[in-house]
Amino acid sequence: MNIKESIVTKNPCYTCGRTITVQGLMLHSVGCPQPKASVFFNNWNKGNANVCVHAVLQADGTVLQLLPWNRRAWHCGSGKNGSGNNTHIGVEMTEPDTIKYAGGGSFKDLNPTATKDFVKKTYKTAVELFAYLCKKYNLNPEKDGVIISHSEGHKRGIASNHGDVEHIWNKYGFTMAQFRKDVKKAMSGSTAGTTEQVGGKKQEETTGTSGYLVKITADVLNVRKGPGTNYPVSTQVHAGEVYTIVGEKMNGSTKWGKLKSGAGYISLSYTKKV
Ligand SMILES: [Zn+2]
Repeated sequence: MNIKESIVTKNPCYTCGRTITVQGLMLHSVGCPQPKASVFFNNWNKGNANVCVHAVLQADGTVLQLLPWNRRAWHCGSGKNGSGNNTHIGVEMTEPDTIKYAGGGSFKDLNPTATKDFVKKTYKTAVELFAYLCKKYNLNPEKDGVIISHSEGHKRGIASNHGDVEHIWNKYGFTMAQFRKDVKKAMSGSTAGTTEQVGGKKQEETTGTSGYLVKITADVLNVRKGPGTNYPVSTQVHAGEVYTIVGEKMNGSTKWGKLKSGAGYISLSYTKKV
């Protein structure tokens, strides 16, 4: 899995700045034969777009993050018990161009082998992303209502009446019950994210004596390929996130810390030891 930040800075879900306390994760499937996440970025990075999800993921392991994880997105509408938009992060899986929709959630599969392979790969990307987010927000993936599909959200009365993700998963043998188990399993292994989020006791123990934890104090902090501002930026980290530092290097009067994830170095001036 490779999270690429591509924030929709023109979308009202971003510009209005409203945030949520993340209590769960909702999985969607785009409902059209479109394998590319960038198409959704283009659709939603507009001032007049009235919906947006937090991320769209691809079969190749790419996760295009469109909104900060705690922004209030508009991904599931609402139901008789309110709206999952106020509690759940919304993630869309792309779909292969080997299917053709025939109205509603039914479709014709033009190449069953390729379709199944694609669905299997987006499933895997989703498992890795949800494991990463469960760790980040201390969520238990098997607790009732924490990880749900859009259609399960509808049954619980917190989402509009859509059939995803089961409309496509059912045909290829994937289920939400198994998905939740796989997320749990992935949480105990090491996830291959671009940035490593370390929160909670469990992770702390696995860092051993070779590293220490710091909390980011700057709103946004660049992660650089080397210990200095002359090195290219590889990704960014954000206020409140906690990372493991496994090495230190001085550059002038600034001390730089090497991230355990391998993403690069951050200036320790904008961190606090925890
Ligand atoms: Zn949906």
